Amino acid sequence: MTWQDLWKVLLDLVYGHDGYCTLCGRKIREKEPVCSICRRNLAYLRAGYEKCTLCGRFILHGKLCVDCGEAAPVFLAVRTLGPYRGELKETLQRFKYRGQRSIAAGFAYLMAETLQSYLTQHRVDLIIPVPMYWRKQQSRNYNQANLLARELAHYLKVPLADSILLKVKDNPSQTKLAKEQRMANVSGVFRVASSGAVKDKNILLVDDIITTGSTISECAKMLTFAGAKEINVVSVAAGITASKEESDFDIGPA
Ligand SMILES: [Zn+2]
Ligand SMILES: [Zn+2]
Repeated sequence: MTWQDLWKVLLDLVYGHDGYCTLCGRKIREKEPVCSICRRNLAYLRAGYEKCTLCGRFILHGKLCVDCGEAAPVFLAVRTLGPYRGELKETLQRFKYRGQRSIAAGFAYLMAETLQSYLTQHRVDLIIPVPMYWRKQQSRNYNQANLLARELAHYLKVPLADSILLKVKDNPSQTKLAKEQRMANVSGVFRVASSGAVKDKNILLVDDIITTGSTISECAKMLTFAGAKEINVVSVAAGITASKEESDFDIGPA
């Protein structure tokens, strides 16, 4: 046994499962679920991008993305860990499609961190995950947004409400649809099971990725109709899109 092996065994004894980074699996000495290399990777992925101030998606310059330049969404603010590319994309895919559920702890830990300064000035009463259609959840065995919301509720010490917002219809993926089609595609898909539970509440809506913003917009709309006061959104990743300025000058992607 080399001294490195011995060190690993000792770490295992001291920390147990906590001795691993939940995102990349590296051994770590910190008593938190994310390693410094994963943190550095995230900072690198975010560098050089601006964020749309309304939907949180990443743009190259300016303040608004092309969609929010046309119509503002109904939620207040969006926090994400980074753009959907590189290591973040790869880790998110392992989390969603390859059953690596423990990744939820690391992502939620970082999400709680990004929300910290915001939460000193805003109250959040309930954490609600973007729901999945029951049949889809049955075949995947879990809803990744639900796992994130559960961990986040634990870190932020805010109640989780995972059976208030329901997905009552299955709909095709949003990614390949144009804006009008995306809005039609999510219309009538979500339902609030109990308006009393959200009335006058400040809600933190949790999703794994904001691809187009239509899904969270529709969820926020339904919660607002049901009487919720404020909707904030947090997600692991957000898509990269054209900015309003780019489309104004017609130099953005078609
Ligand atoms: Zn790591
Ligand atoms: Zn936007």
